[in-house]
Amino acid sequence: MNAYATTQTTTLLIIGGGPGGYIAAIRAAQLGIATTLIEGEQLGGTCLNIGCIPSKALIHAAEEFEKTVHYSYGSPLGIGVQSPSINLAQTVRWKDSIVARLTGGVAALLKRNGVKVIHGWARIIDGKSVAVMLEGTETLRVNCEHLLLASGSQAVELPGMPFGGRVISSTEALSPARLPQRLVVVGGGYIGLELGIAYRKLGAEVAVVEAQERILPAYDDDLCKVVSASLHKLGISVHLSCAVLGMNAAGDAVRIRSSAGAESELAADQLLVAVGRRPRTSGFGLEDLMLDMHGRAVKIDDQCRTSMRNVWAIGDVTGEPMLAHRAMAQGEMVAEIISGKRRHFMPAAIPAVCFTDPELVVVGQTSAEAQAAGLDCITAMFPFAANGRAMTLEAHDGFVRVVARRDNHLIVGWQAVGKAVSELSAAFGQSIELGATLEDIAGTIHAHPTLGEAVQEAAMRALGHALHI
Ligand code: FAD
Ligand code: NAD
Repeated sequence: MNAYATTQTTTLLIIGGGPGGYIAAIRAAQLGIATTLIEGEQLGGTCLNIGCIPSKALIHAAEEFEKTVHYSYGSPLGIGVQSPSINLAQTVRWKDSIVARLTGGVAALLKRNGVKVIHGWARIIDGKSVAVMLEGTETLRVNCEHLLLASGSQAVELPGMPFGGRVISSTEALSPARLPQRLVVVGGGYIGLELGIAYRKLGAEVAVVEAQERILPAYDDDLCKVVSASLHKLGISVHLSCAVLGMNAAGDAVRIRSSAGAESELAADQLLVAVGRRPRTSGFGLEDLMLDMHGRAVKIDDQCRTSMRNVWAIGDVTGEPMLAHRAMAQGEMVAEIISGKRRHFMPAAIPAVCFTDPELVVVGQTSAEAQAAGLDCITAMFPFAANGRAMTLEAHDGFVRVVARRDNHLIVGWQAVGKAVSELSAAFGQSIELGATLEDIAGTIHAHPTLGEAVQEAAMRALGHALHI
């Protein structure tokens, strides 16, 4: 039997201080639930420390630098820049300062709301108790009424190519000590393209190797074509339907094989492996709970209950879509259910945004998905080439597309690709969640000149009376 230096008791015990866990903790504490949160690394989890926030900071820095390089060749705008340069160490320090500000903010919010935070690695004893290794050899036991699993996910390694040396994950890619001259990215999904584009803009030669026959297989072809054209323009080489065989004998190139069986080598100073993430379900006693699983993920119902009474799970540990805003929404809901409120996780849509250049947004159903669900739909798109604001931003590539039911014009989906379209995701989500029709959006006055006018025009076009095309 283990001897514990101390035993504590709480109502809600949360393992993991990422967006899922910390939001659940804040909301539970607001509702008067005694809450303890255990975090083994940094508050804020993957998202704030090594994911969403640092990647968007690096992407922004890369974009700004690339602009100056672009202007150094002269521009129709009349801007000239001489010998642009970037101090990468300073860029990383700036990115780290944003992370520190946000993670410090999370710590302050938890404290202000009365959440007890324990820094240490949790090991599950059973569905009502957890052991935490504190500094030194001291072990703490925490007993609870409700256990919430919010342990997140970790990067998948390629067989035979573990992370280390030249083979890096997104975590190392977000804190570069120096820029590789040649970066090979394995995986043309979210991370591979967001960071591959950033590295290219910072000045590296970048090649992307993707197993499927096109990049971003999760997004539809029309959207991806616009990003593919941009990759081409940026000088990123893309190798589709290719398998990675390993490094060459000298360790300075990646061997790949095409679907036709042709083998070749891509010179690489660094190899960024971004082939997906998997739920973090092992190494801390979770397996011993013998919960029902969905593949590698913890299986949950529409209230985020697992198969064990009063054991809940949220966020990446429950599988796809592995997005911070889903984890946060689930965390808030679980806290409210535990407090006695009647809640179910049934969003009309969860927005997906890819911060490539140009950006991609998908909210709700595509035309193909609506059709597969048995809906008869109208689809209409409005190109940014016909939008005044897009012209003033030199951002004519891309479009907004709407999908609506033919019978009652209820909007079931939006897709967009173009500069800054991530900011349209709120309007898209609200229109679907509130049950808007094409007439509602077409009849809403949109400010001029904005990219958002393309949203109104797409709805008008679906009704057969677009004004600017
Ligand atoms: P996590 O954020 O992974 O947090 C889990 C926490 O649990 C971690 O801090 C971990 O240390 C802790 N933990 C695990 N086990 C234990 C234990 N036994 N004891 C104590 N602590 C433990 N999503 C978006 O929506 N938008 C984006 O732009 C975006 N960009 C991304 C970019 C990158 C490079 C990456 C890697 C991910 C990105 N994501 C993005 C995904 C997003 O980060 C995750 O979906 C989100 O962080 C999941 O939140 P979570 O709370 O489920 O888990
Ligand atoms: P991903 O699933 O987005 O992309 C992985 C890509 O790798 C896919 O295109 C897949 O076909 C390819 N692939 C798989 N095995 C391969 C192999 N052996 N060789 C070549 N290609 C291979 O995964 P990711 O980019 O690692 O990101 C992980 C998760 O993090 C995402 O699913 C997403 O949930 C989250 N994320 C979100 C954002 C965002 O919201 N903007 C950004 C980054 C990450």
